[in-house]
Amino acid sequence: MTTHFINNQRVAGSSGDTIAVLDPSDGQTFAHIARGNAEDIRRAAVAARAAADGGAWSRLAPLERGRLLHKLSEAILAHHDELWQLEMRDCGKPVKQAKADATAVARYFEYYAGACDKLHGETIPYTPGYAVMTFYEPHGVTGHIIPWNYPMQIFGRSVGGALAAGNACVVKPAEDACLSLLRIAELAAEVGFPEGALNIVTGYGHEAGQALADAAGLDHISFTGSARVGTIIAQSAAKRHVPVTLELGGKSPQIVFADANLDEAVPVIVNAIIQNAGQTCSAGSRLLVEASVYERVLAAVGERIRALKVGPAAMDLDVGPLIRANQLDRVNGFLASVSESGARVVAQGSIVVNAPAAGFFAKPTLIADVSVDAPLACDEVFGPVLAAMPFKDEADAVRIANATEYGLVAGVWTENGGRGLRMARAVKSGQVFINNYGAGGGVELPFGGVKSSGYGREKGFEALYGFSVMKTVVVKHG
Ligand code: NAP
Ligand code: MG
Repeated sequence: MTTHFINNQRVAGSSGDTIAVLDPSDGQTFAHIARGNAEDIRRAAVAARAAADGGAWSRLAPLERGRLLHKLSEAILAHHDELWQLEMRDCGKPVKQAKADATAVARYFEYYAGACDKLHGETIPYTPGYAVMTFYEPHGVTGHIIPWNYPMQIFGRSVGGALAAGNACVVKPAEDACLSLLRIAELAAEVGFPEGALNIVTGYGHEAGQALADAAGLDHISFTGSARVGTIIAQSAAKRHVPVTLELGGKSPQIVFADANLDEAVPVIVNAIIQNAGQTCSAGSRLLVEASVYERVLAAVGERIRALKVGPAAMDLDVGPLIRANQLDRVNGFLASVSESGARVVAQGSIVVNAPAAGFFAKPTLIADVSVDAPLACDEVFGPVLAAMPFKDEADAVRIANATEYGLVAGVWTENGGRGLRMARAVKSGQVFINNYGAGGGVELPFGGVKSSGYGREKGFEALYGFSVMKTVVVKHG
């Protein structure tokens, strides 16, 4: 699909240049997308502005906006097969994951459909003779930069929330993962979204993405991606005093105490690092275990890791390919550093023999005795690599958990309720799961980071406050 989607139409890019789209399962080109630039972003921003400021989108009653979001949710479910198959091929997601993502994006629009007419302000007691009220108003035009790891899910949570709050949107997906989002935009037009409410410009981050961050005529930017690019976005937006939401990376700890129910914990811990081949911002990529059960936990987690099979997405194995060759190089680079760092590889899964040689496959790996300040313990690998380390007691667990620059999600495993809550309060992160773990959890749960994991919240009702501005109106009635 070598077009952008602007004003409810497929629109050729102004340069005519295209980018090849690879299937991560075999490394082969199977499609092309338009290579967007600043002019394409400008066109999309103009279209969105016309819809937002007194245009058709802004004139809809919240109730009607909600109905459109609901229709889009239903259309996504009606095209579930088409969408998950696109996502599977484009992103190398195993069938189950691709299906879950297509279901989740529908659920986001369903959730936010119901929220459109519930975002209400307050009255404020003030001086006698005055009435004061607050309104949540849309920013106007919001920009959304989406990464490749969960394109449909992150589109749903970010764009769904922004549309529900009444904004018109300009979206720049990652160049590795555009196809499902272009299709969803078409569905939005088909179910009756007014022109300009939802626009998508494809292209490279440093071109179309940077143009979006720099663009005049955007009133808010939601960025999901790496901490490095998050800094660039925030700097660009600051020049025009445009607010941003930054949903960045993580190095989320799974903290296992000796009294934990290990039968319950171990499968969840393994899933939290292999889900989406470890390419998850909230992957549980550090395993912190109380010293007395450290070897036992390593053995149990290792046994599961060893049994894991990696292969093409369509085979729907435990783990699919990584998104592209340089991501595989990155993961292999971390693995190459293990022996000289004093850490040890405890277990690795295997790549199926008939996997295409040109696919981007990485073996799930459990590494033990990783020192707290090693790159493996501090940096995002963004692959199925779990770094384990022991801790002495609760205070030590908190110290290690908080020893990275990130703070996105944490998991705590203990049968001691008081300790679970103490840990939840002491760990610096946006979400904490006690005796369970979800990569961000359900649609209803506010999500976002602290420290270099970013700021602002998406998901849940909370997202609507970020996608709105509060206006205070003071009336003197005497
Ligand atoms: P990335 O390089 O930061 O890219 C994210 C998005 O930004 C892509 O659409 C990318 O476009 C675009 N981009 C790149 N350079 C840009 C620039 N100079 N100006 C504007 N946009 C630019 O991140 P990634 O490696 O694709 O994604 C993985 C990262 O995202 C990880 O750090 C992960 O933890 C984080 N992430 C966070 C969350 C969360 O909710 N907190 C969720 C998912 C992922 P191109 O790809 O087309 O270059
Ligand atoms: Mg792709």
